[in-house]
Amino acid sequence: MRIYFDNAATTPLDPLVLEAMLPHLEHNFGNPSSIHSHGREARSAVENARKTVARLLKCSPSEIFFTSGATEADNMALIGAVFSIGIQHIITSSIEHHAVLHTAQWLDKKGFAKVHYVQLDGNGHVDFDSLESLLKELPKALVSLMHGNNEVGNLTDIQQVSKICRQYGALFHSDTVQTIGHYPIDLQVLDIDFLVASAHKFHGPKGVGFIYINGKSKIESIIHGGTQERNMRGGTENVAGIIGLAKAFELAYEKMDEKKSHILSVKRRMIETLQASIADLLFNGDCLSESQSLDHVLSVATPIHESNDMLLFNMDIEKISISGGSACTSGATAASHVLEALNVNPDRGVIRFSFSKYTTFEEIDKVVSVLARLYI
Ligand code: PLP
Repeated sequence: MRIYFDNAATTPLDPLVLEAMLPHLEHNFGNPSSIHSHGREARSAVENARKTVARLLKCSPSEIFFTSGATEADNMALIGAVFSIGIQHIITSSIEHHAVLHTAQWLDKKGFAKVHYVQLDGNGHVDFDSLESLLKELPKALVSLMHGNNEVGNLTDIQQVSKICRQYGALFHSDTVQTIGHYPIDLQVLDIDFLVASAHKFHGPKGVGFIYINGKSKIESIIHGGTQERNMRGGTENVAGIIGLAKAFELAYEKMDEKKSHILSVKRRMIETLQASIADLLFNGDCLSESQSLDHVLSVATPIHESNDMLLFNMDIEKISISGGSACTSGATAASHVLEALNVNPDRGVIRFSFSKYTTFEEIDKVVSVLARLYI
């Protein structure tokens, strides 16, 4: 059996999600825009899915828009804020996902908005004083800061960021891809303009996600075509995907605390056994802090050693799927903008272990023993 420790890249589909999706791939194949009964059935399934998502996030269904995933949703938020609301400055961090960073940089390059970067502390956390100094200087700003970092796991206190944004009249967008479905998010408490999710990060299907757009922050579509998603996204809906997303989201909230505590205990076991088995191994970002890092992500910098060259490849031969700094296709640990920003020594290897509700203690022990053999 292969061991899969790359759940920050994607998670396996929950069998119950597949079961919920199948009828919408087989018999209920109608187009939600059609007015006949096949179409109406599909429309009602999509609207029920929207209600499920809204109920769990405690917002209005009219604030949820289904997309092809988080990349599109991040693009929608940033481009929409600039083009529809007149945002002139985007304040973000150097360790955001490329879905945010490259969109912000594109807007800057084209002269539509200016990008500014907040300072980070030694562990890679946002320096709130630096955020405030930027906000004092920059009117018409959108702050885009992720909730959980996908590479090193750092958590940002988005409640605090929201308060600061509101104090200075700035809009706030957060890439919540790594926390939606893992942490409870209550939009009655969190005052935010845009947040985004991707179903495949919480045991749903790939190619479907959503954006929450606060009813007070109206933006226009960036995808033009039909009137789907209340004119916010032209194109026939991915009905089975949307049903799968809602089912996965519902399942994610069932026994969420129990699952969180299981994932945290496997992470603890991994930290303890790694520390006991491999000398001179470092933890990246703030992985060792339980309150300030994601339960499911553990990023390590291996000792400077010849094994680093073929690390992911050798682990793959041992039937262990892990990733380097970010999902990469070459099998080698490629330099990542996040690790560079955090000054991780490039001579070390980097492994990102990421866990799920399915991860077992036996798997942890097996992975650590295989790794320890490489670093003797
Ligand atoms: N944002 C974060 C933090 C992610 O981890 C990912 C996926 O890796 C994305 C955005 C993009 O998600 P998708 O590829 O599903 O569009």
